[in-house]
Amino acid sequence: MKIHNFNAGPSILPKQVIRKSAKAVIDYNQCGLSLLEISHRSIDFEKIMEKTTNLVKRLMNLNKDYAVLFLQGGATLQFTMVPYNLMKTEAAYLDTGIWANNAIEEAKKIGKVRILFSGREKKYSYISKNYKIPDEVDYFHCTSNNTIVGTQMKIFPNTSIPIICDMSSDIFSRKLNFCQFGLIYASAQKNISSAGMTIVIVKKEILRKIKRNIPSYLDYKIHIKNNSLLNTPNVFSIYTSMLTLEWIENKGGISILEKENQQKSKLLYDEIDRNNLFENRIHKEDRSNMNVTFFLKKKNLKKDFDYMWKKENIVGLEGHRSLGGYRASIYNAISLESVQFLIEVMKEFERIFS
Ligand SMILES: *Cc1c(COP(=O)(O)O)cnc(C)c1O
Repeated sequence: MKIHNFNAGPSILPKQVIRKSAKAVIDYNQCGLSLLEISHRSIDFEKIMEKTTNLVKRLMNLNKDYAVLFLQGGATLQFTMVPYNLMKTEAAYLDTGIWANNAIEEAKKIGKVRILFSGREKKYSYISKNYKIPDEVDYFHCTSNNTIVGTQMKIFPNTSIPIICDMSSDIFSRKLNFCQFGLIYASAQKNISSAGMTIVIVKKEILRKIKRNIPSYLDYKIHIKNNSLLNTPNVFSIYTSMLTLEWIENKGGISILEKENQQKSKLLYDEIDRNNLFENRIHKEDRSNMNVTFFLKKKNLKKDFDYMWKKENIVGLEGHRSLGGYRASIYNAISLESVQFLIEVMKEFERIFS
């Protein structure tokens, strides 16, 4: 039976990736051992690391100024590692959502934080474009896609200050000039792989400016020197990422996915706007192509709607626990058919209940 998976994270991955990944857990490359049983310093695993790194570089069109790392601790550890490695005295942050706010709270433990914009009062329903990055800050931190509320940055500032971006929920979903960033990080469990691994893409020249003594695991320079093998990495998650990135490359790259993602999200937003029973509360130009949030106009229909979509094998449509309502996370791997199916269910719901 087909299940339509709208989970926010961990979330849907391409079926063929799951199949290949499962196979490697049983028997890696017909070597008689599981992927989980071979050394992370073996030639087999070295090849996986090299291939995955090159796929990231190719798909994102990165030049040789950048290093690609596969670390642990989730995006959450990056909230700490970024200021630890890059903040001399002060950094600028955009407060565009709950994850952005968590990043700010961690940075405050290391130094001064200047918040250039906060959407908090307006329930994070839009992202300002009118902020100015001060010349004297060490870096500018932003969140490209706000997974919980469903907003997405469509433009990034033109600045000589290093831009640090949390791309956890929209990495590899759209074409950007990735070389405009000083550092990009993304935990794997949304658009890439299993939880427990974070991709970090860093422009090497922005490092080395800090005097503080950094604990080894938190030091990007040490990870670069060790090719992400300072300690045992998450071999399973890295291997599964490699499979997802191959899937993306075989489809034709990020720009193809971007088109599909635009098409899927447009269909869904159009339906929410058209349907009498639902509303989306995000400013139109800031709507996310990855996490589409919506609410019932009449709260007393919640039971009926929940019964209806659950009966149709739709999963993961609940809004974040802090927000309520609904959230359809429509990551790279979700098919147009699943999105169309959800739309049909919403239409049917309207026919019956309005
Ligand atoms: C999920 C998410 C995080 C948290 O990731 P963890 O791997 O759980 O630490 C951070 N930022 C954004 C934008 C997210 O979507």
